[in-house]
Amino acid sequence: MHVAVLGTGIMGAGMARSLLRAGHDVRVWNRTAARAQPLADDGATVADTAAGAVEGAEVVLVMLWDTPAVLDVLGSAAAAAPDAVWLQGSTIGADGMLEVAAARPDLRLVDAPVLGTKGPAEQGTLVALLSGAPADVAAAQPAIDGYSARSVYAGERLGAASALKLACNAWVATMNAAVGQSIALAEGFGLDPALFLDATRGGASDTPYLHMKAELIAKGEFPPSFTLAGAFKDVELIRAAARAVSVAGDVLAGLVAAYGRAVAAGHGEEDMAAVYRVFPPG
Ligand code: NAP
Repeated sequence: MHVAVLGTGIMGAGMARSLLRAGHDVRVWNRTAARAQPLADDGATVADTAAGAVEGAEVVLVMLWDTPAVLDVLGSAAAAAPDAVWLQGSTIGADGMLEVAAARPDLRLVDAPVLGTKGPAEQGTLVALLSGAPADVAAAQPAIDGYSARSVYAGERLGAASALKLACNAWVATMNAAVGQSIALAEGFGLDPALFLDATRGGASDTPYLHMKAELIAKGEFPPSFTLAGAFKDVELIRAAARAVSVAGDVLAGLVAAYGRAVAAGHGEEDMAAVYRVFPPG
């Protein structure tokens, strides 16, 4: 299948590689060309412009930062075939998705955010959250299967999959901050944080996520799978979405404060696990 990937950041690059391994013909574009160029070695065609990338594509995967970036890049749509399916994979929330759909009612748009981070993107084992017209989803499914291990269909309504993504990311952002908080608490109490991992090991509250993030904290090195800046963007999106449906925002307020403080301290480009840094006494 001819697939265009617009945006080759952490996620887009990994997904493009997975699509190539799955046998698709992949054309990529990135605003900062140097970030797309290495994909040529994996067999992708690197286009100079977004319009050049989408020309002839049957499926276009959009994997950009936020709603303004997506709206900007959809300007390239004129170059695409009218029956191309556009998978909007960026985390922009239901409101962002509806804004995009309103701006481009001419496109076959599928709401298609993903669960999973850099590793699953590279391995093609993301979970694809999908909503939109069943025929559009079905037409794009071979490409979706190229970067995901499974799909969860949230119905025909555009925005439903993006809303589901926010509920999932609220969970992830809470767990991630809670790991940092408990490690800082153990340290503050004069305990070896390994005791916290040992005490919870194998119980109902244990999770692979705890060990993944605790390892980064123990090493004091935070190469990004998902940046703190991204986690902050998302908790702000989630807080706004929660307010709109009158869901209590007590926990979200704490998350926005913690991630915001870590970003303000200059750690935005580190992995989100670096939110740990805000907990120990200053
Ligand atoms: P990233 O590495 O920072 O990549 C962001 C991408 O957006 C880059 O290609 C960047 O281009 C592009 N971009 C930003 N502003 C733009 C603009 N105004 N015009 C054109 N392109 C623009 O981030 P990422 O982690 O891959 O995340 C991409 C999306 O996936 C985000 O919505 C994120 O929330 C979501 N997501 C991330 C993860 C994760 O674990 N990393 C998981 C699920 C979903 P440049 O290279 O030129 O800056």
